[in-house]
Amino acid sequence: MTYFIETYGCQMNKAESSALELIFRERGWLPAVSSDAADADLVLINTCSVRATAENRAWGRIDLYAAAKRDRAAEGVRRLAIVVTGCMAERMKREIKVRQPAVDFVVGTFQKQAFGLVLDAVEQSAGGGRLALDDIDESPAFVFARSYYEPGSFRSFVPIMHGCDNFCSYCIVPHIRGREVSRRPSAILSELASLEETGVREITLLGQNVNSYRWKAEAGAQGPDGADLGFPGLLRLIASSIRERGIGGLRWVRFLTSHPKDLSDEVIRVLAEDPLYCKHVHLCVQSGSDAVLKAMNRRYTRGDYLSLVGRMRSAIPGLSLSTDILVGFPGETEEDLGLTLDLMRSVGYSYSYMYHYNPREGTPAASMPGRIAEQVKRERLTRVIELQKGLTADLMRSRLGSIEEVLVEGPSRRKKTELLARTQRDEMVVFPAAASRVGSFVTVRLASLSGNTFKAEEVAG
Ligand code: SF4
Repeated sequence: MTYFIETYGCQMNKAESSALELIFRERGWLPAVSSDAADADLVLINTCSVRATAENRAWGRIDLYAAAKRDRAAEGVRRLAIVVTGCMAERMKREIKVRQPAVDFVVGTFQKQAFGLVLDAVEQSAGGGRLALDDIDESPAFVFARSYYEPGSFRSFVPIMHGCDNFCSYCIVPHIRGREVSRRPSAILSELASLEETGVREITLLGQNVNSYRWKAEAGAQGPDGADLGFPGLLRLIASSIRERGIGGLRWVRFLTSHPKDLSDEVIRVLAEDPLYCKHVHLCVQSGSDAVLKAMNRRYTRGDYLSLVGRMRSAIPGLSLSTDILVGFPGETEEDLGLTLDLMRSVGYSYSYMYHYNPREGTPAASMPGRIAEQVKRERLTRVIELQKGLTADLMRSRLGSIEEVLVEGPSRRKKTELLARTQRDEMVVFPAAASRVGSFVTVRLASLSGNTFKAEEVAG
């Protein structure tokens, strides 16, 4: 049996797709060879609901596979099972099957543990029998996705918490993914240990709001599960368990995504003191205007954010920061936009994910007055993108000549004699070296620029 997975949206979805892929492989399924899923028995579409455009894209793919399924039925060739999972599945549930009856299964975020039953049903129907499954549990508990290690890759994402309690007024995530749930510390540690043994060199700890990780001591539990633990405590626990193992393979740890109000001085101390933690933080700001931040329910001010950045920068020399920026929020004025542009210049982000506001049905912002015209939103977004391009270019030029340790990811796509690597600051670097260096840490000098990639040369470490 063969599967084909399409994943949309955030890193959490990617980690969850990886975990589902592991289930396929454990059951002996093979990945489809054809890039259009023509040889697949099952297509899994892991969807994102964060913006209406993301849902529209997923509908386009679902409808495309529905047509392929009808064609196969008409030709009497192998059956195609269509499974929809992710945030759209959680948000719309059975409505998906009503709108597109060719969809066989809708598996919500909280129903991942039922995925084995879905595969049982598909396997049993492979000989031409009825594709059927009694209803899966409507109110299951959330089960953490395991991270997944792709042979040949040296980076892995490890979910540590799930859901969000922040209820930013534009965001659908808390309504779909539910309230925050933190993962058992012992499960995180044992997963990190097995990833290190498999050859992983870099880990990203993942959560919708990763700094608010909070484990409540479990009665009667031994070891780390028996004590209360916050995010900085978890970072220290991870560092000491990696050092105790002493393998020396896993050397870089990052985390995503950080809400500014939860990034404590204790986290800053850990980042400053422990070389295991990469000196790059993605710190979402969204807007530089207090009025807009308040309407967004972000629960910090421009002053709070800039003071946090100041504390981080003075404690962690060489720290790089990236962010998310949302323009065109209801009520945003030219002056508000000016404050955002000004904040971007003050912080000097290495890169930003920039997008303009689109109302999301089911969120408070969708009914706020002061909608901004599409053309104005697009024009404001263009200005933000242009500024970021300039900031990135200036920052990269200022880095030329630096000596950096990089993790080699694989051969460069452009030149077979070059390898692609990444710095701790998440910058892309290519340099000439033998393929045998893939997976190792190498010291290079950043020599020149090609677009947003550094060209480098190896130097003695
Ligand atoms: S912090 Fe805000 S934007 Fe991020 S997931 Fe939570 S509600 Fe959404």
